Amino acid sequence: MKLTLLGTGSPIPSPDRAGSANLVQVAGQHLLFDCGRGVVMRMAAAGVLPGFVHRLFLTHLHSDHITDFNDLVTTRWAMSPIENPLPVTGPVGTRRFADTTLAMLEFDIEYRIAHHDDLEWQPGIEVAEVTDGVVWDHDGVRVIAAPTDHRPVTPTVGYRIEHDGKAIVLAGDTVPCAGLDALVAGADAYVQTVVRPDLVQMIPSPRFHDVCDYHSSCEQAGATAARAGVGTLVLTHQVPPPAPGTDHEWIDRARAGGFTGNIVFAEDLTVVEV
Ligand SMILES: [Zn+2]
Ligand SMILES: [Zn+2]
Repeated sequence: MKLTLLGTGSPIPSPDRAGSANLVQVAGQHLLFDCGRGVVMRMAAAGVLPGFVHRLFLTHLHSDHITDFNDLVTTRWAMSPIENPLPVTGPVGTRRFADTTLAMLEFDIEYRIAHHDDLEWQPGIEVAEVTDGVVWDHDGVRVIAAPTDHRPVTPTVGYRIEHDGKAIVLAGDTVPCAGLDALVAGADAYVQTVVRPDLVQMIPSPRFHDVCDYHSSCEQAGATAARAGVGTLVLTHQVPPPAPGTDHEWIDRARAGGFTGNIVFAEDLTVVEV
């Protein structure tokens, strides 16, 4: 399985980091997880057009994980020679989000259908709302969802992708919890969004301090990885955006959580193969 960290940023703008999005390519399938800022540009860099995506999976409906959903839907629709609705799996609320996105695109849809004689259909989105269990099972590839803890954002889910005895877990935004532990157990790669409370506390903004409440710190990500016995821990969605040359600080903190395996400090388009 090939995992590409398409976007490793957070809501805080960064010139180098797009918003949260991950691509898993396995058995000829292109599975996309979240679609934050700049996702279609980063997909282009990875050689995947929106029309190629077999399914989009959403971890939750926070803006930094869904900002460019509309771009994905529009570009897939406008570039496709045939009707090609986008299949989407996500937590409860995803269907309403998809419907309201299509409503937002009403003008553009009208313009393009009026302009192109061969474009006779509206963009389609096929939604499956999930809570846990096997949510995708095709040609030996399974995706399993489990509830995570990102309260007060609820519901949220993480995903475990399995193929040929290998497993990748995309935890999304969450603090350590039983659902996460079960999902991560024995995975070859575990991708965790992380914060550095020591740096966040230096920023004089109470609102910014709140981000520490519902994200894993590097130490917590390391502890989760150690408990689960994973092969590789991937640190992404780093908050605040890391200063150049500070990778080792983040990695050292994850090590302090007790994890002795391989640690990857993700940048946009980092690839992890398992
Ligand atoms: Zn979030
Ligand atoms: Zn986030």
